[in-house]
Amino acid sequence: MNGVALFPGSFDPFTLGHKYVVDQGLELFDRIVIAIGINKEKQGLLTPENRMRLIRDLYRDEPRIEVRTYTELTGTFCRELGIKTILRGLRNTVDFEYERSIMQVNCSLFPEIKTVLLFTPADYVAISSSVIRELLAFGGDPTPLMPENIDIKNYL
Ligand code: ADP
Repeated sequence: MNGVALFPGSFDPFTLGHKYVVDQGLELFDRIVIAIGINKEKQGLLTPENRMRLIRDLYRDEPRIEVRTYTELTGTFCRELGIKTILRGLRNTVDFEYERSIMQVNCSLFPEIKTVLLFTPADYVAISSSVIRELLAFGGDPTPLMPENIDIKNYL
């Protein structure tokens, strides 16, 4: 038994890079809760419902994945679910500094929660939700950056 990890993020939208982290995570953990953090002040590209629908469609046949939305602090949400491990992905040194600062705050507020970081291989380093949003804004096709069989048009 390796337990459960929470993979938190905005997932606006969920990308091939996110899928890589989840797929690797499934080799380390029994279950992963993909937790979509909702910032009420910030309007995203996809509604929270559509972000969730996209990820649920993707993992329809994977019973070890659960998808939830949340509005509280990630650590608070972990405590509500009884989860002690946060999973995050790391592309570059910018991600590293960001993750370290979040981890340090979490460490003082939620000392029992550990963060596991997974590096991304070179092919995935340039993939981000913001690149997909930018592509769409200028009429580009983000399909190569999305998980297979996901057509973003069905979720906009
Ligand atoms: P947040 O706004 O919380 O950073 P994101 O949805 O952008 O949410 O990202 C969620 C997590 O997925 C973060 O840990 C981020 O570093 C990771 N991630 C995003 N894109 C990639 C990628 N291409 N490769 C690896 N990890 C990634």
